[in-house]
Amino acid sequence: MTAATMEELRKKYEVVIGLEVHAQLKTKSKIFACDSTEFGNEQNTQVSPITLGMPGVLPVLNKEVVNMGILTGLALNCTIPEHCKFDRKQYFYPDLPKGYQISQYDQPICINGYLNIEGKRIGITRAHLEEDAGKLVHMGSSGIAGSSYSLVDLNRAGTPLLEIVSEPDMRSSDEARAYMEELRTTLRYIGVCDGNLEEGSMRCDANISVRPVGQKEFGTRAEIKNVNSFRALQRAIEYEIDRQIDIVESGEEVVQETRLWDDNQGVTKSMRGKEDAHDYRYFPEPDLMPLEISREWVNEIAAKMPELPQQRRERYISYGLTSYDANVLVEQQDIAYFFDKVIDLKADPKAANNFLMKEIAAYLKEEKVTIEQTKLTPESFVELINLVTTGAISNNIGKQIVVTLLKEGGSAKSIVEKQGLSVISDENALKEIVQKVIQANPSQVQLYRGGKDKLFGFFVGQVMKETQGRANPQMLNKLLKSELDG
Ligand code: ADP
Ligand code: MG
Repeated sequence: MTAATMEELRKKYEVVIGLEVHAQLKTKSKIFACDSTEFGNEQNTQVSPITLGMPGVLPVLNKEVVNMGILTGLALNCTIPEHCKFDRKQYFYPDLPKGYQISQYDQPICINGYLNIEGKRIGITRAHLEEDAGKLVHMGSSGIAGSSYSLVDLNRAGTPLLEIVSEPDMRSSDEARAYMEELRTTLRYIGVCDGNLEEGSMRCDANISVRPVGQKEFGTRAEIKNVNSFRALQRAIEYEIDRQIDIVESGEEVVQETRLWDDNQGVTKSMRGKEDAHDYRYFPEPDLMPLEISREWVNEIAAKMPELPQQRRERYISYGLTSYDANVLVEQQDIAYFFDKVIDLKADPKAANNFLMKEIAAYLKEEKVTIEQTKLTPESFVELINLVTTGAISNNIGKQIVVTLLKEGGSAKSIVEKQGLSVISDENALKEIVQKVIQANPSQVQLYRGGKDKLFGFFVGQVMKETQGRANPQMLNKLLKSELDG
C-alpha cells in the first residue's frame, strides 16, 4: 500500500489504545522475601528459598511495597480500597520456579484513577502489586530461535512490581507517548521507580485496536510487548495501526493476540494467542492474609506526598517561565531540584532558567555529566545570576563565566575581579574607546553619515571587540550616537 492511500484510509478509522505499564518499585528487598533487589550483581546470588519457590516456605509481605503502592495510587488519583488481596496466577515458564506468580486479580490495591494529559483525562482502571519473574539469558547461536541454550538468572525474581492499567482512552501514538512520559515523571518524582525503560525498570504493553469512525464498539485489539523506549512505543503503535487497517480493509479480521515489537526490523510479529483470565487458574493466595489498609495508613502516606509534576509545572509558570520551558525543566528531575535551590536563594527565575536551558544544558550534553557531577553549586550560580541581573557584568561575560564555574568551580565575583570582566560604565573611559574606533574607521564613518544606518551595528561590534564585551550597552549606544551623529 502506498503512503498516500494509507493516509487517506487512516482518516476512516479511529485508533484506540490502552497501556499496561509494569513499574519496578524501588524497595531494598523483594516483595515477599528479604533478598536484595540490587541490579547487576552476579547471577543467582540474591535468591532465598522463598525466591526459589522451595516447598514449605512462606512469603512475607514487605510493608514498604504497600507504602509505595498506596503513594502511587494517590498520585494517580486512585481510590485505595480498604481491602485487597493477593492471588496466584499459574503458568509454566522456566523463569518462574514456583509455577505461579503472586499477583492481585479481582481486588487490587488501587482502582479508578486518572492522569491529566494536556487537558485530557486518561483513565486508570487499576494498579495491582505482583512479583517479577526471573530472567532468561539466551546463549549460543545455533538453535531454532537463534540461540542454542538459555540460562536462568533468578536475581530479579520476586522484585516488586506495580502494574498500572489504563482505560482504552488514548487515540493516537502521541497521546500514548505523552501518557507514558507523564506516568514515568510522576513515578520518579514520588520516588517509587527509576523509570528506566531501556533497563526494564519500567515496561509497557500497548493494546491497540482500530474501528471505523463513528462505530461504537471497539475493534479487536492486539497487545504489543517488548517496547523499551518511547520511540519504540510510538513506532510500534504506528506500525500496528497500518497493519490492522490493512487487515480490516481487505475484509479480514484482526486476531486477538500478543505480538512482539522488533525494533531493528520495525515490525510487530505474532508471539502467541491471547490468554484469557481463566487460562491462568487464578485463586486467592493461601499463604498470605488479605490486606486491610486503614484510612489512617492512607492519610499518613498522603501527608508525605511530594509535589507532583503538574503542580511543579504550574509553579514554574507562575515564576514567568513559558509552559514549554516549565515542561522541559520538570522532565529533568535533577535540574529541576537544582533550579529549586537556586530559587530558594532568591535568584531571578527567568535568568536562572536561561542559563540552565542554554549554556548549562549544552555543557552537560557535551561532557555527558549530570549537574551534580559539575563544580557548579547553587550558591555560585546565584552569585553569577545576580552579577548579570544587576548589570555588573554583561550577559555574554556571564555565559563565559558559567562555563568556568561548571568546569572549575569557584566564585563568580572573584573570577570577575581577577580577570577584570566587569562592565565598563565609566563614561569617560568608554568615550575614549568610542573615539578611537571612529578614528580608526574613516570610510565606514563616511558611509554611515551618508545614510547607511545599518553600519551602527558595526561600530557597536568594534567597541565590544576592543572591550572584550565589557562595554555597558546603554551607555555605548548613547555615546556612539552622539559621537557619530553629533
Ligand atoms: P487483559 O486482562 O486481558 O490484559 P484488560 O481488560 O485488563 O485485558 O485490558 C488490558 C488493556 O487493554 C487495558 O489497558 C485496556 O484499556 C486495553 N484495552 C481493552 N480493550 C481494548 C481495545 N479494544 N482496544 C485497545 N485497547 C484495549
Ligand atoms: Mg492485562
